[in-house]
Amino acid sequence: MAEKRDYYEVLGVPRTASEDELKRAYRRLAKQYHPDMNPDNPDAEARFKEANEAYAVLSDAEKRSQYDQFGHAGVDGQGFGQAGFDFNFDEILNQFFGGGFGAGFTGGRGTRSRAVRGADLRYRMTLDFLEAAFGTERNITITKEDLCDSCEGTGAEKGTAVDSCPSCHGTGQVQARQQSLFGTVLTTHPCEACRGSGKKIDHPCPSCNGRGRRQKRKQLHIRVPAGINHGEMLTVRGEGEPGLNGGGYGDLYVEMSIRPHSLFKRQGYNVYCELPITYAQAALGATIDIPTIDGPVSQTIREGSQPGDQITMRGRGIPVLNREHQRGDQIVTLVLEVPRNLSDRQKSLLEAFEGTLQQHNYQKRESFFDKLRNLFNK
Ligand SMILES: [Zn+2]
Ligand SMILES: [Zn+2]
Repeated sequence: MAEKRDYYEVLGVPRTASEDELKRAYRRLAKQYHPDMNPDNPDAEARFKEANEAYAVLSDAEKRSQYDQFGHAGVDGQGFGQAGFDFNFDEILNQFFGGGFGAGFTGGRGTRSRAVRGADLRYRMTLDFLEAAFGTERNITITKEDLCDSCEGTGAEKGTAVDSCPSCHGTGQVQARQQSLFGTVLTTHPCEACRGSGKKIDHPCPSCNGRGRRQKRKQLHIRVPAGINHGEMLTVRGEGEPGLNGGGYGDLYVEMSIRPHSLFKRQGYNVYCELPITYAQAALGATIDIPTIDGPVSQTIREGSQPGDQITMRGRGIPVLNREHQRGDQIVTLVLEVPRNLSDRQKSLLEAFEGTLQQHNYQKRESFFDKLRNLFNK
């Protein structure tokens, strides 16, 4: 860490400076280097902190005399510039400048003038499997807190004035002096007269009882893009609740819930389905209409297909979100259905047929019994 500068040098005053001179010097520097005036400027922030510390010491008669005798060593070790140093400079500044400063530096304990963004809202939208796959458009109705139309959010009846609260001069907060280790410290409380709003309204708006806000129903048109998946969210900017003190509106998050489909399952952009086939279709091969999200598509099952075999139908899956013409695949698993409730004639036909089959017709079976024989002949 760099050598600490002399506090008088920091404030640019002579060692003989009066209390008033100190205050004026500090006020000028604080105004110049305040983080609200110098966003994202670490240099200014360092200068601001330095001035704060110098003023905290020199404005306190006891600490000033210690500093005059012993320099930094006389006042260090009291927790300065370290954790536990609790001196609310924003409140000093507000005292100096009439509350015009935001709470940028110390983290903002209840400074009313700071703009606060409105709350985000969440809406759950339920879609069918195919709507999610190909996208859709929906009108939704949300209920939210919004600015009152009658008074445009001021809370005062139309045509009547909104004055500053005389108790807090429009700041929404009142300050109390307290003695502490570091001398007089100001603490801030919300103004009781205006409940922190800083406004004095003689004629409250009858529509909202002076709140400036009302529950409103709003209809929104939502365009759901193709390919959206269960649990994903669309952000509709600015459709949340209004902010405070000029803060912007929050956002609306539309969360997707997708109903399961009776035939299709989805994994990423691929669609999975099972296809029941007959013994003869599997043995002989067949051309079958397979259901896809585009409708039935003719597909060849090759001769000698086995249960559990998978057929990949390229590009028959879900469209990829925000990528036109790109789609996942459909993966079809063959399920062999063994016939039941056979008639006597069917049974004897099947037995006759079975009698014609030889080992080479059953590759799996052949290799299975080969392995079995080897196992016991070892
Ligand atoms: Zn109103
Ligand atoms: Zn007030």
